[in-house]
Amino acid sequence: MANPVILTVDDDPAVSRAVARDVRRRYGDRYRVVRASSGEEALTALREIKLRGDQVAVLLADYRMPQMNGIEFLEAAMDLFPTARRVLLTAYADTNAAIDAINVVDLDHYLLKPWHPPEEKLYPVLDSLLEAWAATPEAAPDEVRVIGHRWSAPSFEIRDFLARNLVPYRWLLADEPEGGRLLTAAGADPADVPVVITVDGSALVKPTEAELADRCGLSTTPAADFYDLVVVGGGPAGLGAAVYGASEGLRTVLVERQATGGQAGQSSRIENYLGFPDGVSGSQLADRARRQALKFGAELLTARDVIGLEAAGATRLLRFSDGSSIAAHTVVLATGVSYRQLSAPGLADLTGRGVFYGSASTEAPNCAGQEVYIVGGANSAGQAAVYFARHARRVHLLVRGPDLHRSMSHYLIEQIERIDNIEVHPHSEVVGGEGTDHLEQLVICDNRAGQQRTVKASWLFVFIGAEPRTDWLADVVARDARGYVLTGLDLSSDGRRPAGWSLPRDPYPLESSLPGVFAAGDVRADSIKRVASAVGEGAMVVSLAHQYLAAQ
Ligand SMILES: Cc1cc2nc3c(=O)[nH]c(=O)nc-3n(C[C@H](O)[C@H](O)[C@H](O)COP(=O)(O)OP(=O)(O)OC[C@H]3O[C@@H](n4cnc5c(N)ncnc54)[C@H](O)[C@@H]3O)c2cc1C
Repeated sequence: MANPVILTVDDDPAVSRAVARDVRRRYGDRYRVVRASSGEEALTALREIKLRGDQVAVLLADYRMPQMNGIEFLEAAMDLFPTARRVLLTAYADTNAAIDAINVVDLDHYLLKPWHPPEEKLYPVLDSLLEAWAATPEAAPDEVRVIGHRWSAPSFEIRDFLARNLVPYRWLLADEPEGGRLLTAAGADPADVPVVITVDGSALVKPTEAELADRCGLSTTPAADFYDLVVVGGGPAGLGAAVYGASEGLRTVLVERQATGGQAGQSSRIENYLGFPDGVSGSQLADRARRQALKFGAELLTARDVIGLEAAGATRLLRFSDGSSIAAHTVVLATGVSYRQLSAPGLADLTGRGVFYGSASTEAPNCAGQEVYIVGGANSAGQAAVYFARHARRVHLLVRGPDLHRSMSHYLIEQIERIDNIEVHPHSEVVGGEGTDHLEQLVICDNRAGQQRTVKASWLFVFIGAEPRTDWLADVVARDARGYVLTGLDLSSDGRRPAGWSLPRDPYPLESSLPGVFAAGDVRADSIKRVASAVGEGAMVVSLAHQYLAAQ
């Protein structure tokens, strides 16, 4: 983050140099002094400063300048930096104009030229103005800024992507003054949102996830064409494989479609993972694992979707959605599962605008003091209920069955029972939703009597089970009827090896029907859907990959 700016503008080069020199002498170690010779030039500099996310503390403008006088400049500058302190430099003859400016541009001070000695006439004024500016919230350092509409699904997707990838950002509404100012500086208008201003001051209009990842310092391009091990999917299984693969000397790259952490990254609190007696949030666990993988030398690519797998002799080729590809000796499929969508009428159009799949923790502060509806009876729904209960006035947990006992861990049921503002509604299903800009009401059906009731609701979080998205593997590896990847003994029927299997050995335990391609975690048929088992399988495949490579 660059030092805040003190900007001086004067059309007389000698005076301009003198002001900048005096200011730099006293404040140059803490502030960047920017000098301009006209109002227009100064405004151009201010627009660039705004886009870079830097701050302007003080504006010093000469009153008498051709084209745009000092008051006109300060008025225009206020639109970009309303909290910057404003000083007009005037000659004695212009003091009346300066006094008028106090009203027009809310002038903080006017300085009579010449101001020598600066120790007496300039610095005391600037000291107090800088002190006042430093106390404003705008003086806090900035990061990536996202400007969007409150109820906009694309704006939510961008915030969710940044949050899940642990990129700090500031969220600004397009119809609030600072959001509007940034849009103006970027030459954009409210119809262009979401607009992202990166740390280097570039404005990205409606960026794709790949663009966003690239511009926010997340790695998106592989450094090599060929690897020992390519891991597809950055959840616990994939991160486990990347840590063990890289730490055991394999050239390893992990490719993640959205954000490392996978489903676990969305968990508000994982309490049953070994070694964390007080629980750990999914994003913390993902962050640690990510850093651990990087430390051992694994490459992590984000916002890259693998859409094809082919065998070319002993080489395994993986194709990305942009047509590029990478090759490897071995592959780990760790693509997990994705949430099933609620099919009730009206909900699809409201996704990201009140209806969310997964915990969408970025939305939690917005639910403060409101009624939140959660659908699902398993642990993920239970964790979300506990988490949202800290923010919401009341959390309604809608469960299809008679109670939580069949599908939720005992420790979570006990927690939920102890929290006053969680209400469990058994035999309840969401059968409809309505809203114009945002979810406004839900239709809930009691599945015993078929009775329906309509409730006012702005927030619905859905956790109704998940399915593997493995269509892209359809003709490449054997899958079960639900799309889970078959491995090891599950591939053999009546003692016969899988069709097309060419090696004189049985598939290894986590190996798929294509030799050298393994599956780990939730995507594997009959896997245990837990963080610990996914991490364990991630570690195990690396040892099997070594065996495979040794036999090649
Ligand atoms: C909210 C929630 C709470 C949970 N709480 C717990 C808990 O407390 N304890 C516990 O043990 N378990 C918990 N689970 C279950 C646990 O998170 C999962 O079992 C675990 O995350 C599975 O890990 P995985 O790596 O196999 O798959 P996932 O976590 O599903 O990760 C798969 C990753 O692969 C990526 N991907 C998919 N397809 C592609 C592709 N084609 N190209 C590139 N990338 C791709 C996805 O974007 C995703 O990041 C919870 C799950 C949820 C949803």
